Formats: sequence, C-alpha cells, structure tokens
Amino acid sequence: MNYEPCPFCGSDKLKLTSKHRLVGYNGMDMPVHAYTCSVRCNVCHARGGTAGGKTLVRYGGLPLPEWATTREAIEAMAIENWNRRVRRVC
Ligand SMILES: [Zn+2]
Repeated sequence: MNYEPCPFCGSDKLKLTSKHRLVGYNGMDMPVHAYTCSVRCNVCHARGGTAGGKTLVRYGGLPLPEWATTREAIEAMAIENWNRRVRRVC
C-alpha cells in the first residue's frame, strides 16, 4: 500500500502510528486488544483519520470471529483514510 505525499507540506516522510490497549479476553483466554492506527506526517504532524477495531492476540491461523479484525486490516484502513483526505485537500 502506498502513501500519498502530505498535502500540507509535500513531505513523503509519513509514518503509521498505532496504539493498543487490552479490553479483555475471549472464550479461549486469548487477549483482545482495541487497536487504533493513523498515518502521520513527520514534518508538519498532519494526521489522517484514525482507523480502529478489536484484534485477537496470538490467534494463530484460526478463523477470526465476526467482531475481530487484524492489525494489517486496520493499518490498511488508516492508510486509506490518509489517502482519501489527501485527495480531498488537493
Ligand atoms: Zn506534512
């Protein structure tokens, strides 16, 4: 997935920042995290829309329950939010 350059300063020094916190455990005692992610410009600190969801830690290859998603999916959504905002500003 590619980032559009920053619409405010033109920089392509963008990074994905993420946060997570423990919100509980599922029925199999796997930790459930609330994971949020957004893209940020390192130069002018502009920020894209935050994407978030619940992730299961150490879920291995098991199929995910409906309420859960993956960090990769949330990160892709954050990049999509950033790119959409860039297109709106330009
Ligand atoms: Zn910028």
